[in-house]
Amino acid sequence: MSPFDLDNFSHSLIENGWFREQSDLHFPGQALQLKIKKILHYEKTQFQDVLVFQSETYGNVLVLDGIIQVSERDEFSYQEMITHLPLFSHPNPKKVLVIGGGDGGVLREVIKHQSVQQAILVEIDELVIELSKKFLPNMASSFNSPKVKVILDDGFKYLKNSSFLNESNKFDVIITDSSDPEGPAQEFFKENYFNLLYNALNKNGIVISQTSENFWLNFKFIKNLKKIALKVFPNVEFSYTCVPTYTSGQLGLLICSKDKNFNLKVPLRKLPPSDELSLFKYYNSDLHTASFVLPNWASNYLENN
Ligand code: SAM
Repeated sequence: MSPFDLDNFSHSLIENGWFREQSDLHFPGQALQLKIKKILHYEKTQFQDVLVFQSETYGNVLVLDGIIQVSERDEFSYQEMITHLPLFSHPNPKKVLVIGGGDGGVLREVIKHQSVQQAILVEIDELVIELSKKFLPNMASSFNSPKVKVILDDGFKYLKNSSFLNESNKFDVIITDSSDPEGPAQEFFKENYFNLLYNALNKNGIVISQTSENFWLNFKFIKNLKKIALKVFPNVEFSYTCVPTYTSGQLGLLICSKDKNFNLKVPLRKLPPSDELSLFKYYNSDLHTASFVLPNWASNYLENN
C-alpha cells in the first residue's frame, strides 16, 4: 500500500493499508492490526527501527522494532499507572528517574506531583524524543519543564557508571519505561539491572518496570521476572493496566520497594476525588488497589511454584 520504499525497514509489517504487530516470541499465533491513514516517519537508527504513523482510529502511533509503544488514544492508561502507582505509594517523592520513556508521557505524569523537584529521563535514542515532540505533542508536553533533565544514554550504562554513594544522589522513584527485552532494552529484564536499581534508590525508594507481558500471554516470563526481582528487593508486587493497543489489551507492571513493610497496593497519599478527576483520565486511588487483584487462576499461578 505504501508509496514509501520500506524494503530496508526490517519490521515493515505493512500490507494493504494495515499495520500488523506480530511477534512469534511474545505472542505466537496472534497479531494486532491497525488501519493506517498516513505514514508519518520511518527510519532505522543505530538502536532500532522507528516508525510513526497516523492511524484511522487510534491517533498517531509510535512503533519500535515492529512493536507498538504508544498510541494517542490509549497511552494515558499506561503512562498514568506506571507513574502514579509508585509515586502515590511513596511518602514524599522528590527525585524521580525515568529510564527510556522518550515519548515523554511518563514525564508528563511525574511532574503532576507537586513534591517532585527533579525528573531525569535517560533515553538511548534521540530520534524517539524528536519524533514525539513533532507527532505526539500531548505526550511530549513536559520536556521544557524546568524540573526535567534529559540525558541521552543507555539507561543500564547510566546506572552502572553513576555513583550513588550518598542518599542525596539517590532517587525516590525509578520508572523503567523501556521497550521489550529484545534489542536495546534487553538488560532491563535481568538481575544485574535490579541490583543497579536497588543501589540507586534511597531507603524509601520504589521502582516500577513494564514487564512487556501480561497474564494472558507469557505469564511464565512475568513469574520469572518477579523471582529475579525478589532476589534483590524484599517487596515485589504485580499489577496490570488495560491498553487496547498492547496485544491482548493488557500490560503487566512489576513494582518493588526497598522497605519490605511498604504496602504498595494501597496509596499512601490520596488526592481529593475532584482533583483526581481533573488530573487523571485513568488513575484513581480505588483503581490503584484494584490493579493488583488477579483472577484466581492467575494469582494461583503467580504465587505458587
Ligand atoms: N510504553 C512503551 C511500552 O511499554 O511498550 C515503552 C515506551 S517507549 C518510549 C520505550 C523507550 O525506551 C524507547 O524510546 C526506547 O528508545 C527506550 N530504550 C530502549 N532501550 C533503552 C536503553 N537501553 N536505555 C535507554 N532507553 C532505552
